[in-house]
Amino acid sequence: MRYTTEAHIIAKQYLEQYAKHFGDDQPDVPEIHLPSCLTKKLVFKDYSLHCITNHHKAIKRTRFLQIWRMEFPNVKVRKHQKMTQCTECAVFKEAFLKKLSQDEFKKLEVRRKAHLTLQRIAREKYYKHRTKSQENPQQYLSLIIDNMDQSKTNLPRFPFVSKADNSLTKLHHHVTGVLCHSLQKAYAFTWTDQFASNCNVTLNCLMTVLDDVAKNNGGSLPPTLYLQADNAAKDNKNNYVLMFLAMLVKAEIVKKIKLSFLMVGHTHEDVDQFFSRISVKCHQQAAVTLPDLHQLISTSVKPMPYIQHINSLWDFRKLATSDYSLCDFKDIHHFVFRKADDKVTLKFKNWPLHSEPYRELDVTNAIPDLDVPSIVEGIQPEEVFRFAHGTHIQTILSIAGSRFVS
Ligand SMILES: [Zn+2]
Repeated sequence: MRYTTEAHIIAKQYLEQYAKHFGDDQPDVPEIHLPSCLTKKLVFKDYSLHCITNHHKAIKRTRFLQIWRMEFPNVKVRKHQKMTQCTECAVFKEAFLKKLSQDEFKKLEVRRKAHLTLQRIAREKYYKHRTKSQENPQQYLSLIIDNMDQSKTNLPRFPFVSKADNSLTKLHHHVTGVLCHSLQKAYAFTWTDQFASNCNVTLNCLMTVLDDVAKNNGGSLPPTLYLQADNAAKDNKNNYVLMFLAMLVKAEIVKKIKLSFLMVGHTHEDVDQFFSRISVKCHQQAAVTLPDLHQLISTSVKPMPYIQHINSLWDFRKLATSDYSLCDFKDIHHFVFRKADDKVTLKFKNWPLHSEPYRELDVTNAIPDLDVPSIVEGIQPEEVFRFAHGTHIQTILSIAGSRFVS
């Protein structure tokens, strides 16, 4: 038996915070991966420096790594990252492998720390929004939206894949996930290649969630919406989405919307934790049909998520089409739409730093009015299947059936 010393507790807390601020939840496994530019040695170095700065007694490296192994076995530093890496982290990682002079090393360390601090600040802003909505759900609504890697949910799917099954074409099933922090509720929307993968899916999912939140909130929405999305240009970060959010503000559906994006390569968050639970279930349980997939998702997390298969989409994209481009948003990670005195303004900045001033635009006249949208014409099933490389659907279904029976 060993008493937990104060130094032990501090090291444990340090590691916990480190994983929270720098780690990325993995969408396919219940693990948190630290940025690729880090090694365990560098994490220990950061910890030692933290102890010196705060006048704490530091524990030895072997003990530190032991606490890491025992308390945080899911926090990993991976040599080879499966997910897309942050370019800057990859550059640091490569540079650290070379023989550097002390001066070069110090310079690189400063750059690496600045980079990780910036991604931490963006992340902390998201956590702040999340907490605010949980503490005051009448005023704030915080949502995160993302798409799951579709390869995990193609149907039919079996926990054990034989070579014969592997070569067969499967029906693509996409999952879009939304987490509502104020209601502590997860939403999963499934859809097939019947619809093009673009922001219409994102916007339809968003509107369904807003509708559900309003139903849970006595028919109205909290005045402020915090929306966290992925940097994908086709799904989230484009003029249609910005325009549509501005339209919601103009129509006074909500008073203010803050749309935030995390740093590219450091974007995996709690919604990916949700996806990893679905992914784990997919490895344990067969899903031959769509109801099977829904059943599997329904048991992946508690409380049970809201699940819906998208059969038709409103064409919000068409509704939000405008010749006017709201701003050059490629490097922008923080947008705020607000309506005051019949004026809709868009404020934006690269990073949510206090030191960086907002740039502001009056966009009132550029925004189309919110109207009843038309319906997206889906691609016909035969057409969808023609895109899938040739294997006849009957073959898949007969094999699925035989596997299912056996
Ligand atoms: Zn990075």
